[in-house]
Amino acid sequence: MSKNERIVFVLGAGFSAPANLPIQDRILQEMIRKPAEDILSYIPEPESTKFLKSYISVGIFLLQNYTAFDCIEYKDRFEELLLKCKYTKLEPGILSEDDKKNELLILREKIRECLEKSNISVSLEDVFTSFDKTYQSREFFHKYSSQYIDEIKESITRLFVYYFSKYCKNHTYDKGDYLEFFNFLKKHVPNAAIISTNWDVLTETYLEKYKINYDLSLNDEYFVQDGSYKPKSQKTIRVIKIHGSINWFRCLNCGKINIVSSNDCGNHLFDDESPEICKSCGEIRDTEILFQSQIITPTMMKSLNGQLYANLWSSARDALQNADHVIFVGYSLPIADFDFRYMLHQSISNNAKIDVILYHDDDPSQTDKLKLKDLLPEKRYHNLFAKNKIEFCYDGFGSYFMNKNILLS
Ligand SMILES: [Zn+2]
Repeated sequence: MSKNERIVFVLGAGFSAPANLPIQDRILQEMIRKPAEDILSYIPEPESTKFLKSYISVGIFLLQNYTAFDCIEYKDRFEELLLKCKYTKLEPGILSEDDKKNELLILREKIRECLEKSNISVSLEDVFTSFDKTYQSREFFHKYSSQYIDEIKESITRLFVYYFSKYCKNHTYDKGDYLEFFNFLKKHVPNAAIISTNWDVLTETYLEKYKINYDLSLNDEYFVQDGSYKPKSQKTIRVIKIHGSINWFRCLNCGKINIVSSNDCGNHLFDDESPEICKSCGEIRDTEILFQSQIITPTMMKSLNGQLYANLWSSARDALQNADHVIFVGYSLPIADFDFRYMLHQSISNNAKIDVILYHDDDPSQTDKLKLKDLLPEKRYHNLFAKNKIEFCYDGFGSYFMNKNILLS
C-alpha cells in the first residue's frame, strides 16, 4: 500500500460500535430507562423545560400510536400545562417557573412509566419512515395535520441529538481501535477522504484531538461554524457526512447550517437560558423553533432537494471515482441505503481495490446454512462489486489498521 495511493474510507455504524454509541433503537430504551434505583445516590440530570416539553410530546405520540395505552388524560394535562407556560406574569392561579417545571417533571415521569409498562418496541427508524412517507405523499398520518407531524418529528430529532451527544461526551477518546485508525489515516493525508454514514461526531473529535486538518466539504455559502474550525490548507482531508450530523442545525430563517461545537450540541437545542440565535443572519427566537436538526435517514433522501446535500453527495461521488482503494469500515451495505448503494456502484472503478472490515458476527464462515450466508454483508458486496477484487476482514478495524501500521513502519 503506497502512501500516494488515493484511499477513501467509508464509515458505517460498526465504526461507532467500540465507542458504545447507541444505535437508533437504543435511543428509545434510553428514553424509557428508569433513573437509578437507589434514590439517595441518584443525582437527577438537569433537564430543561424545553427538553421536558419535547420528551412529553414525543412520549404521548408514541403511546398513542404504537401502544394499546390510552393517554387522553395526559394529553389534556399537557395541553393545560402548555397554556399555563404561555403566561409569564405571576397572577393569581398562574404557576411560578419552578412550579411549572415541577408539574412537567411529574408528567414526564408518568409518561416514562407508561412507556416502560407498555413494552413499546417500535424502531425509531420506522417512526421516521412513516413521517417521511406522510410528507412525500402529502397524506395525513392517522388523524394528524402535517404541521403537528413536523413538530413531533423535530422533537424526536432533538431528543435523538440530546441522547446521542450525551454518549459522545462520555467517550474518552483514547480507545485503541481508533488510535490505530487515525494513526493510519495520518500517514495518508492529504490523499485520503472519509465518507461517513454516521451522525455522531466521533470522527471530527478524534481528528481535532490528533491535529489532523479536515474539511467538511460544505461550500462556504451554506454554513457558519463556531469554535475550532481551521481554514482550508493543503494538508487537509475531506470528511463527507452524507447523512448529516448531530451538530448541524439549519436556520429556518436564512437556510444556513450552523455547526455547533461537538461538546455543546446536546444542550444547544434545550437551553432554557438562551434563545436560539442564528450566527449567520442574527435571527433570534425565544420560544419558537429556529433550528432544524440535520439528521438524514435513507427514506428522507428522496424528499431532499437542498443544494447542501447535492454538494455533499457530489463530493462523495468525486472522491469515490478517483479512489485507487476503498476501505469500508463497519459498513454492512444495508439494503435500505438505496441511494448510497447506487452511488457506490456507479462511482467505484472496477480497478479499485476494496477492503471490507466487519466483525465476527458478519463472518459467513461461522455458519453452514446457505440461506444465512446469503443474508450476510459479504454476499451483498460481491453482488454490487462483481468485477472488483474484494478482501474481507472480520476481526474489527482495530486489528486491521494495527497490521497496516506495522507494515508501514
Ligand atoms: Zn439564519
